[in-house]
Amino acid sequence: MAASFAEGRPSRRILLKVSGEGFSREGETSLDTEQARLLAEQLKTLTHQGVEVACVIGGGNILRGGQAKQYGLARATADYMGMLATVINGLALCDALEAFGQPARVMSAIDVHKVCEPFIRRRAIRHLEKGRVVILVGGLGSPFFTTDTTAAQRGAELDCDLLMKLTMVDGVYDRDPKKHEDAVLFKDLTYEQVLQRQLRVMDQTAFAMCRENDLPIVVFNMHEPEGVVRVAQGERVGTLIQG
Ligand code: UDP
Repeated sequence: MAASFAEGRPSRRILLKVSGEGFSREGETSLDTEQARLLAEQLKTLTHQGVEVACVIGGGNILRGGQAKQYGLARATADYMGMLATVINGLALCDALEAFGQPARVMSAIDVHKVCEPFIRRRAIRHLEKGRVVILVGGLGSPFFTTDTTAAQRGAELDCDLLMKLTMVDGVYDRDPKKHEDAVLFKDLTYEQVLQRQLRVMDQTAFAMCRENDLPIVVFNMHEPEGVVRVAQGERVGTLIQG
């Protein structure tokens, strides 16, 4: 079902993509559970407002497949390690949510049944309907993909009406804002404009999937106060991309 973002209209079900860097202090690697707690607080508020929340978790704070050479690893091995890294972050978020009294379930695309459930679409939807935050880990379960692609795929599969991508900058710019002081932030973009201008929003597979499924994307700064809650309420924050 095609979705659209309209200012002032709250979301019904969101897919939140949280990169591994959302689980570590700025500029650091490894895990900082305080970051998970800050996010968990917002997710609890959202579910209390009746918004269903599914999160796809990244693992880049621990390891990315792209670092295979650096570690002398085969690419596929490093990818599986990256997928396992997302499990670690996802468990930290689940723990933080439960500490706030917010029910949550971790569902994995790779088999780690001692620590979380397998991802089963119908079961995930059931959890969402019951007001549980669904934390999706293990990516798509296959090497050579990213958790951005996972977010796009699960967003479509779970019939979410919005994909939120948290980043370290305020949204999508015409140039890298970390290198160019005069970089211009876009407020609105269509999928076509992103392709024509060759803007980097997410990897190509992920972006193509959002476009094909009319899944609107909002890109905004993970340090934006109450950003996740505000966007889900229909407030314009960061950059909105839709058809
Ligand atoms: N990964 C994978 N298949 C997937 C999802 C992730 O192989 O379906 C691996 C890949 O190596 C990736 C790592 O897991 O680099 C961590 O995910 P990602 O880099 O997307 O995390 P983020 O950048 O969001 O922290």
